Amino acid sequence: MFTQSQLQEIKNLLLPENKVVIITHYNPDGDAIGSSLGLKHFLKTLGLEPIVIVPNDFPKFLKWMPEAKKTIIADYKRKMASDAIKDADVIFCLDFNAHNRIGIVGDWLANATAKKILIDHHQQPEDFDFVYSDVTIPATCQMIYHFIEALGKEDLVNQNIAECLYTGIMTDTGGFRFRSTSATTHRIVANLIEKGADPAMITSNTWDTNTVSRLHLLSLILGRIELVKDGKVAILYLKRDELKEFGFEKGDTEGFVNYGLSIAGTKMSAFFMEDLYEDFIKISFRSKDDVDTNAFARAHFNGGGHINASGGKYFKNIHETIEDFKEKIEEEEF
Ligand code: 5GP
Ligand code: MN
Repeated sequence: MFTQSQLQEIKNLLLPENKVVIITHYNPDGDAIGSSLGLKHFLKTLGLEPIVIVPNDFPKFLKWMPEAKKTIIADYKRKMASDAIKDADVIFCLDFNAHNRIGIVGDWLANATAKKILIDHHQQPEDFDFVYSDVTIPATCQMIYHFIEALGKEDLVNQNIAECLYTGIMTDTGGFRFRSTSATTHRIVANLIEKGADPAMITSNTWDTNTVSRLHLLSLILGRIELVKDGKVAILYLKRDELKEFGFEKGDTEGFVNYGLSIAGTKMSAFFMEDLYEDFIKISFRSKDDVDTNAFARAHFNGGGHINASGGKYFKNIHETIEDFKEKIEEEEF
């Protein structure tokens, strides 16, 4: 958590006359959108009117969240986004910790004169004016709740805030399953339910959103899943023409990588996907226990993230990428 004197400085910044912008990462997920909108709704209770900016569009299954549709997508509204960042007095940076995770928005952020406040749970944060970084917490949404507690404002948590924070905790913990899910996480989730978050509604809006084409895509990749490294590593992949054939929409492949980890004996799953428009391979890694995919993604695949969930990019074709991966993973000790 921030120190007491930092909290006091932050309180002094959170005045209704100050312009606040909230930024989250490229390809925003449930935790990114949940923490940004949750914080926005909290700041609204203090009389502020924050603007949420995301670098690019996010999946439909996150657009049910209160005020999700008011988010400024920098890809579509460049000038509006860059002007808001330039004019801001305070910028919250949520669920990412490096300027290169927000694309062009990173350049605008670097040039902004606002006070920059980081709240994030990824490894190795860059420098910001105020930093609350904790890699042991499973979701940035949980950290937003701790921040509200530290400000002594828990009583202001309303249904909108509760729904947003619940969603991010649910998605980043894989439904309260992943390793860093703690008793504290569950206590906070219990409070959020008391404040009006409806678990059945949120789960259904977020996860019961399959289309038939998404399930066909899933069956295609499950049908050719491959195990390497004595059954400890699962490999999945999708090609661009397959994405096109099944009418791929943003978010359709969310969670596919987890199927590799559900196989008994696997310790790591890797999912490779040709980008729909650009010539690179988007990679997702997931792992169990102490298999460090963050270090692996950083070392070999231009990426990073968490120990058990990371991602990267690679600039060869999909077959070469998978061959390089197989070579590198054999060298790892686990
Ligand atoms: P996903 O596989 O869901 O895209 O990403 C999993 C985690 O890895 C997320 O926490 C995300 O922030 C991180 N991540 C994904 N892609 C990249 C990347 O290209 N660079 C870095 N530094 N982190 C990434
Ligand atoms: Mn997160």
